[in-house]
Amino acid sequence: MGINIQSDVSLKKYNTFGIEEIATNFIEITDPIQLLSAYETGIFKEEFLTLGGGSNILFTKPYSGYIIKINNKGIQAKIVQQDIFITACAGEIWNDLVCYCINNNYNGLENMALIPGTVGASPVQNIGAYGTELMNIFYSCIAFDTVAGIFKVFYNEDCQFSYRDSIFKSEYKGRYIITEVTYKLSSSPSINTSYGAISTELEKRQISNPTIRDIAEVVSYIRVEKLPDPSTVGNAGSFFKNPVISIDKYKELKELFPDLISYTMPENKIKLAAGWLIEQCGWKGKVIGQAGVWKNQALVLINIHAAKGTEIFELSSKIINDVYQKFNVKLEREVNIF
Ligand code: FAD
Ligand code: NAP
Repeated sequence: MGINIQSDVSLKKYNTFGIEEIATNFIEITDPIQLLSAYETGIFKEEFLTLGGGSNILFTKPYSGYIIKINNKGIQAKIVQQDIFITACAGEIWNDLVCYCINNNYNGLENMALIPGTVGASPVQNIGAYGTELMNIFYSCIAFDTVAGIFKVFYNEDCQFSYRDSIFKSEYKGRYIITEVTYKLSSSPSINTSYGAISTELEKRQISNPTIRDIAEVVSYIRVEKLPDPSTVGNAGSFFKNPVISIDKYKELKELFPDLISYTMPENKIKLAAGWLIEQCGWKGKVIGQAGVWKNQALVLINIHAAKGTEIFELSSKIINDVYQKFNVKLEREVNIF
């Protein structure tokens, strides 16, 4: 199956920030076999970028290489005793997969309802929300090695998952194109309401024995209330990762800032709420030119109207600098910059 290379394609509708940049070359992949054709044509020797839904990307300049837009579709379930193995093609929309699982009463994805983007990107930053992470349900994926020109299977233990990170975002950044992902779910529900906002909303609705559908609905409701909808306000969700620091550093900070918000992590580490740090520096709701900080959550940077990617990037640099000056904590960008 061949490939069709389009020239000078606007990326505006392919990134949720809504940044207007041009890609010199654009290829849509609807069948993984096309990756072999792309390999034989020598495309992966040039600059290229694998693109899913563009919801974790900031374009700061025209893209002069090849954009490889992943758009293969299909979901299959295989039941082995209590376990359900769901295999989804990389181009499937993540939330469509969540809905498919809820409709079939497969348990494990509900806390991650309404995360934008595709299945193929889900392992890349080990997506997570409301007390669950992808690594808890990820079984394996198939990925195309753009250096060797072969498909390879990665199991959970191969992916080096950690907080909003994986081997695909670190050591193998950009090298592998994920073509399908298999998740290991369960038919016996284990409801996770550990996240404060979920239990508060369930109480409000007087739901004491929630189903996975209840959880997905509550999570979706909270998200819509709190986050800007990319179809009206360009954004890529949390622009920064929550910083994870040592217990000693935490103690120092807590003395200086008694209201510091923190959560205990494995290995004696402490996670700080980056949104709170940014808010304390006075950035919540602020706007510089066409770039802004979301009024309900300071972790989210927004495109006010026709912002350049560089404007948003510069705003992020100012925030990083201010947080560092005030708290001596270096924020890292979660969004991928190109
Ligand atoms: P893209 O933005 O297209 O790509 C992201 C990165 O993954 C790029 O480096 C890209 O090269 C790589 N990539 C994409 N597809 C593939 C593939 N098939 N193979 C290999 N590499 C690939 N994230 C969370 O973790 N939790 C949240 O709760 C959350 N909430 C969000 C809310 C909003 C409103 C928005 C806009 C974003 C949010 N995000 C969240 C960020 C984003 O939705 C996720 O990171 C998502 O997984 C990105 O998927 P995508 O398909 O859009 O990836
Ligand atoms: P929030 O409820 O205002 O909480 C702020 C931060 O505190 C969150 O980022 C979360 O870290 C942490 N937190 C809160 N309760 C926690 C608990 N019980 N245990 C451990 N950590 C806790 O956050 P929010 O911005 O509205 O986001 C809600 C959820 O959606 C979070 O899980 C967040 O990660 C996710 N989300 C992610 C993105 C993204 O682009 N990555 C965008 C929007 C929302 P964690 O982030 O580690 O959970």
